[in-house]
Amino acid sequence: MVHTIQSHLLAGVPASQSIAAAQRARDLKAAGRDIVAVTVGEPDFATPPEVIEAAFSAAREGQTKYTPVSGTTGLRQAIARKFQQENALAYDPSTEILVGTGAKQVIYDALIATLNPGDEVIIVAPYWVSYPSIARMAGATPVFIEASPEHGLVPTAAQLEAAITPRTRWLMLNYPNNPSGAIASREQYAALAKVLERYPDILVMSDEIYEHIRFDGSAFISFGAITPEMRERTLVVNGVSKAFGMTGWRIGYAGGPRALIAAMTKLQSHVTGGASAVSQAAAQAALQMDPALLAQRAATYEQRRDLVCGLLAASPALDVVRPSGAFYVFVRVRDTEVLGGRPVDDFLLDHGVAVIAGEAFGSPGWFRISIATHDADLQAACTRILSAFSR
Ligand code: PMP
Repeated sequence: MVHTIQSHLLAGVPASQSIAAAQRARDLKAAGRDIVAVTVGEPDFATPPEVIEAAFSAAREGQTKYTPVSGTTGLRQAIARKFQQENALAYDPSTEILVGTGAKQVIYDALIATLNPGDEVIIVAPYWVSYPSIARMAGATPVFIEASPEHGLVPTAAQLEAAITPRTRWLMLNYPNNPSGAIASREQYAALAKVLERYPDILVMSDEIYEHIRFDGSAFISFGAITPEMRERTLVVNGVSKAFGMTGWRIGYAGGPRALIAAMTKLQSHVTGGASAVSQAAAQAALQMDPALLAQRAATYEQRRDLVCGLLAASPALDVVRPSGAFYVFVRVRDTEVLGGRPVDDFLLDHGVAVIAGEAFGSPGWFRISIATHDADLQAACTRILSAFSR
């Protein structure tokens, strides 16, 4: 057997903890354990039928070949229209937009195409699990800012200033946030932009994949649209997975400055080439759909948010951050003594509920509940959580 399998690229990088936790819950259920799983970060809604029809017609009409690396012209134009209409962002579809195999690949493209060993990437905790791992795979060092509940889980200007060094290359932002559901306001973004104006070499990635899942009429602004100067160095990442129930089609996209998109496209040309042709046709149809569907789905998530937050509020052992968007509820265990030194996900598994432990998001002592599941499971999960913390 060959001794060393893993390259330096993978050394110190764990497999995705959220994917692993979701798999563990599936395995336990398959083995007959009574587990309610609220782990997975994917909509329980199906892909809209007209999107499936569009994919079927595209395949039948021969759109089954390689596409340009950056995406089909039709999809890139649909994305440019989306950015213009929904985000007040003008991008040239031929040079400033890239389509990839999921937002995940687009984020990977961006970091691998730009980072050198020793560079630093500022990541706000709680964060999506893959940001630090991808940064490390690029040889860079993640630098964490701990966003506090008092500031709505958005970093302050002072926190950003303190995290910046001459080696900082990227600031990663993700609102609505996975796992906290926080949404940044225009004022909060403007304060960060003001700091960044003094550091012209820092790029910003704004991962806006949960844009369409917002509650209580919360407003949304893209970081790229906050000032013209920020537009010139922000990569706005989005995709169809979460909004349209299309996780398995694997289409994500980004708009950004030409030189950055060119570097990412060059990288992607050697990794996957263009994303699946049929999936691109499907994504184009999704972006052209009546947005009423998205509002309807967001309203369902909002009811579930109310259900879960309402039930968990009964526990004095838990602090529940009421999310403004995305489809997660992030909960803090007030006194971790009750866990008896065990990770919170193990502790809750003993009580028949699978969650993702906050460690995966850089927030020990917290756990994430996905509300992308139906009311009966959410009820059962909350009942079990309340009982686990009642002793
Ligand atoms: N960003 C965030 C914050 C996410 O939660 C996810 C999915 N879990 C992604 C990016 C990746 O989405 P996809 O690759 O399915 O487009």
